[in-house]
Formats: sequence, structure tokens, C-alpha cells
Amino acid sequence: MDGLLKKWMIWKILGVVLPILMGLLMCIMVIMAIVSNSASSCFSENTPPSVQEGSKGSNQNAPWRDQNSDVYKGMKYAATKLHSDTGMSADNVAAALAVGWRESRFDPTAYNPGGDVIGIWQWGKGIINGNRYGDTEPTVEAQVALAIRELKSTHIATLSGLKGADIMNSIIAWDTHFEGLPPSDSAQRKSEEVYQNAVDIKKALGLDFEGKIDIGNSMVDKGDTSNNLGAAEDAMSCKNNLNGTTSGLPVAGKYNVTGGYPNYQGAGGSGHGGVDFQTVDLKGDAANVYSVSDGVVVVKSFHPISGNFVVVKNVDGVYAYYGHAPTQETIVVEVGDRVKIGQHISKQGETGAATGIHVHFALNSRNNYAFSPNSSGLENPGKYLKNLPKEVIKPNDIVVPGGVFDANANAS
Ligand SMILES: [Zn+2]
Repeated sequence: MDGLLKKWMIWKILGVVLPILMGLLMCIMVIMAIVSNSASSCFSENTPPSVQEGSKGSNQNAPWRDQNSDVYKGMKYAATKLHSDTGMSADNVAAALAVGWRESRFDPTAYNPGGDVIGIWQWGKGIINGNRYGDTEPTVEAQVALAIRELKSTHIATLSGLKGADIMNSIIAWDTHFEGLPPSDSAQRKSEEVYQNAVDIKKALGLDFEGKIDIGNSMVDKGDTSNNLGAAEDAMSCKNNLNGTTSGLPVAGKYNVTGGYPNYQGAGGSGHGGVDFQTVDLKGDAANVYSVSDGVVVVKSFHPISGNFVVVKNVDGVYAYYGHAPTQETIVVEVGDRVKIGQHISKQGETGAATGIHVHFALNSRNNYAFSPNSSGLENPGKYLKNLPKEVIKPNDIVVPGGVFDANANAS
């Protein structure tokens, strides 16, 4: 009788209880996947990790506690300068310094060849992330000056996020808008460790001043998100804003679509992160490339695959990327320039990995400075360009090659 009861119970567990448990587990996994996915597709939503203020860290020997160390002197200089020139608060500054410690051990000579990044805050200096660093000197003074220049121009969204923020939210603002790290990426951000260090740095350096950030006429504060580089615009950088209302095309006159999305042939062929346009009559000096939207130029650089390229952050928050220009000089706009829809910005060419003269047009919903041909956040130009001919749009918004089309005929 006992043995029979045991068998019956085992049978019951296997047949009834286990499937229910498995089902519950699946539900939880699906929900978690949805939650983590939505958190990484937008910069705006985040939940700071819970850490205890003032809890003892393992930084008893941290060099910022030694007033004779280079780190202490460098941080002290940066703190004074960041506060006086941008109005950052003590909490803001402590956060920026702690991120600098994470990135480089606050060493202006630090260089990571793997990421091609350099300096205190590990700026991109070349082919991978664009050359933000330029010819900045490897000194604390020069790099703090570069940071301040960026905070007041291309990276003003950082200041917007820092305004009134406590230490934790300051770290999130700096990581999101200055480092290009999404808040959800807590592993790379080491957010708890950075937080503990920021608290300690604030105390060790005796940072005690209020913030007075004034982002002037950037329109962020005025609630106008139509033409700025601020946080409100970043919050819109989500996939669901690709609603096909952009009326511009990157070329004028007669053209062929010579490469589709997400593969060269649309559904087949090798992967292709954008759509290729090649004009038919307009060749050489006349083969202009035009901005498909109003926006701000955020990157102008070279990449072995993309060749000479330019990235415009469009007013809807989407990053539009135009690749293969013949030379840097044929990209006739500069970083920081505001451009209008239809404005001549570049030329078709075949630098980088290209087999003919064309412009590679790609879209990314995030991460402007990490823009590379296969970067995460790539979006479908077929969903974005209203005047892309119907003939090249297939089910599931797959874009296939086709032509000849007339850009002027499509204009509306
Ligand atoms: Zn292409």
C-alpha cells in the first residue's frame, strides 16, 4: 500500500505540479525579458540600484584620500573647474570624478587600444567611436576643458540630467549622456562601486557647494523638444517613434536602391545595416547627399567599413548615418552644426567597404558615439522614410533593391 501511494504521489508531481511550475517559470521569464528589453531601448526610464549611503567601502587606501597624490590634485582641479564653468553641484562633481576613476583610474594618459579610447573619461579617439578626443593634450587641465566644452554643446543632455540630481542620479546622467552607457547596463557601469566611491570622494575632497546649472537657450528647460540636444529628446529615442513621417530622402533626382535592409537583398544575402542609394544622372561633384530631417551633426569620422561618414541626430531623437563619402572635406558640415531637412551635408562615394559609389543610409535609436555598422539599436530605414518607393518595401518592412526611382517625383 505504501509503495503504491508513493508511486501515485510521484506520478502526480510529474504530471500535474511540474507542468504548472514550468508554466509559471516561463511566464516570469517572458515578463523579465519584456521588462529588460524595454529598459534598454529607451534612455529615459531607470531604477537606481539600491545601495546604502555611507556604507564602508574597500577604499581605505584610495589615492583621493592622499592630498599629495596626483589623483587627489587632478580631482581637486577638475572639481573646482567643473563647478565654476558649468554650475555642477558637489554631488554632480563627485559622480563625474567617480566615473573618471572607473574609466581610467583618473589618469589623463590612460589609453585602451581595444576600444580605441583615451583619457580620464575614455573618449573615442578614432575609427571605432568617432574622434571626440581630437588633439587634446594628455593632461587633466586639457581634458577637463574638453569635457566642459562638450557639456556645453554636444553633450548638453548630460547637464540637463545633472541639474538637481543626487549622487546616484548624477552617475546615471553622466553614464547615459556622456559615456553612452544605458542605465540598464549596470554590470559595465559598476554602479554600486561607483556610488560608494563618489560618496567617499565627496567627503575626502571636502566638496560642499550647491549646483547652479543654467543650460540657457537649449530649449530643454522650456519644454520645447523640437530642436535641442537635451534629455527630453533622448527620452523620445525609442523604436515606436519610427512612424514613417520623415519626408526627406538622402539623394535627389533619379536613383536606384542598390542595397536593402536587413540584408543586401532584403530577406536574403549578407547582412546590411542600412539602405544604399545611388543616383543615376547626378555623378561626381553633383552626387550630393542630403539630410533626411532637421537635426544636429553629432559625429564626423572615418571607419574602415563605413568610410568617411557623418551622423545627424534628428529632431525626433533618431540618429541618421550617411556613409562612404569620398573624403572628410566632402562632408560639408561640422559637429555641432544644426541642419535642415534637404540640406546638402555630404557626397556619395566608395570609401570603406563599398563596391560602388553610393550613400549608405542607416538609422540608430541610441548611442550616437558608438555608431558602427552593426551596432545595437539599428533601426529599419523602411519604417522611417515616408518617400521610400512602395516597390522596395516588402512584408515585415523588409527593404529590397529596386529602381529607377525619381526622388523629386516622390517629394511631398
Ligand atoms: Zn550600405
